[in-house]
Order: sequence, then structure tokens, then C-alpha cells
Amino acid sequence: MARTDIAIIGAGMVGASLVHLLRPALQQGLSLTLIERQPLRWDGDFASRPPSFDGRATAVSYGSQQILQRLDLWAAMAPRACAIEHIQVSDQGYFGQTQLHADEQKTDALGYIVENAVIGQGLLAGLEQPGVTLRAPAQVSAVQMNAAGALLTFSDGQQLQTALLILADGARSELAQQLGIQHARKTYGTHALVTQVQASQPHQHWAYERFSEHGPIAFLPLNQRDYAVVWTLPDEQIDTVLALPDAEFLAQLQARIGYRLGQLQRVGERASYPLALVQSNEQVRRSLVLLGNAAHSLHPVAGQGFNLALRDTAALAEHLNRAFLAGQPLGELSLLQAYEQQQRQDQRNTIMASDLLPRVFGSTVPGLGLLRNLGLLGLTAAPTARRLFARHAMGLGQRAATLFPSH
Ligand SMILES: Cc1cc2nc3c(=O)[nH]c(=O)nc-3n(C[C@H](O)[C@H](O)[C@H](O)COP(=O)(O)OP(=O)(O)OC[C@H]3O[C@@H](n4cnc5c(N)ncnc54)[C@H](O)[C@@H]3O)c2cc1C
Repeated sequence: MARTDIAIIGAGMVGASLVHLLRPALQQGLSLTLIERQPLRWDGDFASRPPSFDGRATAVSYGSQQILQRLDLWAAMAPRACAIEHIQVSDQGYFGQTQLHADEQKTDALGYIVENAVIGQGLLAGLEQPGVTLRAPAQVSAVQMNAAGALLTFSDGQQLQTALLILADGARSELAQQLGIQHARKTYGTHALVTQVQASQPHQHWAYERFSEHGPIAFLPLNQRDYAVVWTLPDEQIDTVLALPDAEFLAQLQARIGYRLGQLQRVGERASYPLALVQSNEQVRRSLVLLGNAAHSLHPVAGQGFNLALRDTAALAEHLNRAFLAGQPLGELSLLQAYEQQQRQDQRNTIMASDLLPRVFGSTVPGLGLLRNLGLLGLTAAPTARRLFARHAMGLGQRAATLFPSH
């Protein structure tokens, strides 16, 4: 039977990132197997890709960009990444508004918008390295924890014994369920409609987040005059809006955002995602870690799901690299608990903010409109509050993992 030190199930954004972050241990003889149900090379067809790398675009925070840069992955993504230099947050029908600017934060960019396909190409390109076995397309159908770690059974009957299992298999982790790990699921009664539009005016690196009683809508700058749009809609409206003729769709979108970007002229393909906060009730056990969406899947309003997961992944890799280089067993519970402990506060804060924003800003409760505008005005007036808000959005609110420990 085949054996490996670490098996990662899922080569989405999170599983693939972990491979790169474990480079120091790989260079010292770690064996790692990355398993993915979908092929890791694809043509234009979204259906045959790992779902992380579909037609969406991701707001990559400044902190995440720094991690990708230190891993030498950013250079390949940079030519197709758009820097966000300014963010305007506003509330339709009210006067409150705030703006964040990169130069106020003494940085070139508050974050970057990158198409998920570009992130995918960057992350998947360098996976073939000594110590790494790629198994894709391959599906793990059963997991059994045992004294030596975990025994994985593939759908073709083959088996793999691993000392440490990382479940990075997404928000509907069937394997976690098999192990008796429960997920708490809180739905918002909304879907995110995702598309790209072209406006008549150049975006000049502005991102817009606009809240209304119908839910938040984000316009994120891509190329020149193109924006990635994330439009939150009530469940009962999503099918109708998805099916609108282009002209009618653009007119509705224009009514939501106004004319600050000029005239909206062209719209690309539309896709939708049901929105929920999904959290596992356990993230570590002996020889087991749940990572990324398998551990926590967030409302995308604040663009934090991948950014938080990448901070988790960098922190986990820091512990695993150090343990491997010290000859310590990788499945040891105290080691995995130390990782969980380190990330607990960051996870709690980020999840709370991502959960609160759509509820406070999406509410029609009398008085909340005024309060949230006072909040926005408060941010405008108070430089310290704005700096803290910006640092959180930039993914800089917490201690960064030491990616490559000296040894
Ligand atoms: C509309 C929307 C917009 C978003 N925007 C942002 C943003 O701007 N910024 C941000 O930080 N985050 C954003 N996110 C969140 C981000 O997309 C997720 O955090 C990220 O995709 C999670 O990746 P993952 O690798 O954990 O999971 P997934 O992408 O779900 O990957 C899991 C992988 O595991 C594989 N798999 C599952 N089961 C098995 C099995 N049994 N055997 C083998 N393989 C298996 C699957 O095929 C899949 O490839 C957004 C999310 C949505 C829905």
C-alpha cells in the first residue's frame, strides 16, 4: 500500500497553496500527496475545473499578495492583477459614505483583483516538485482514522496511508461528515450573482461597495474599463435576474450603482452562488486538519474567504515545517492544536465581520439605516478608525506567519 507523510484532499485555492507553503519541508524530504477530483489541466470549460478556478474574480488582500510574492507565485499573476488604489463604501438612499486610499496607508495598493483562473494557473503551475505526488482526477470515497494516521480509499479501490490528512475539500465536505464532524450552516436567503461588465469610463483603480436594503453590490476593477461585479440578491429574485436580457440587466445594475462609473455598456456571462456561513464544529483532531471552506465558508461581501484561509494555511505550514525539520510527528494533536489556537482570534474576527456586514447593511429595520451611516461617517471623520478598517480589509490586522523558518 502507498504511504505519504501528508495527504491533502482538494486542489482548490487552499489545498494548492498549502503545497507551496510546505516547500521548506519538501526540500528536506517530506512526502506529500495532493488529491483532486477534477483534472488539474483544463481547456476553456469551467465545468471541468476545480471549482475554485471558475469564472469569478477574487479580491486578494495586500497581506495575501505579500504571501504569494514571498512564494514567488505573484510574478506570474501580477500582469493580470488589477491594483485597488481607492475603495468607496456607500449606502444607497443615505448620505453616509467613506473612502479608503492606498496612499493614506502608505502602500501602492489596498489589494488586487485577480481572476480565479489566473490564480489557478499560478498556483497549479509549480506543483510538480520533488516529494509531491499529484493524483488528479481522483476521488477519495472513504477515510478511516487509525493508529498511524488516516487510511484513504479511492473510488477505484486503491488505498493510501498518511500520517497527516488535510481536508481542503470545500464547504460540502462529505469526508468530514463520514468522520462525524458536523457543520453549522446559516443561510442568508440570498445568492451572489457574479459577472463582468464594461463601463464607459476608465476605472482608475477604484473599487465600489454599495449597500442597499436589497443587499450589497461590489464593482471591482479589472482591465481599464472592466469590472468584476458581485451582486447579492434575494433567493426568490435570482433566477429572474439571471435570465434578464443584457440591456435590461445593465439598466437594473445601473440603477443600483448610479453613474459614478459612467454608462454600463457590456455584460459577460452570469453565474450565481447560494450564500451561507458554514462552519465546522472541529478543525483539528489527531492526524487531521480541516482547512479553507471545509473549516469555514464565509459570505463574500467583505472578500475575506480565501484571504482568511490563506492566513490559516500559512500559519499551519509554519507549524508543520518547523515540526518536520525538528523530526516531530506531524499528526501530533498538540502541534495541530497550537495552529488552531494561533488562528482562533483572526478567524473569529473575520467571520464576525463577514457575517455582520450583510445583516447590518442589508437590513430594513427602522433606525439601522441611520446608524450604519453614522458608522460610515464615523469612518470618514476618524483617521484611526479608518486606518484600522483598512488594515483589516488589507489582511494586515494580525501577526503574519513566518513562511520559511530559519534552520
Ligand atoms: C461569489 C464569491 C466570491 C468570492 N470572492 C472572494 C474574494 O473576493 N476574496 C476572498 O478572499 N474570497 C472570496 N470568496 C471565497 C473563496 O472563493 C473561497 O474561500 C475559496 O474558493 C475556498 O477554496 P477551497 O480550496 O477551500 O475550497 P474549494 O474551492 O471548494 O475546493 C475544494 C476542492 O476539493 C475537491 N474535492 C472535494 N471532495 C473531494 C474528494 N472526495 N476527493 C478529491 N477531491 C475532492 C473539489 O473538486 C475542489 O476542487 C468568494 C466566494 C464566492 C462564492
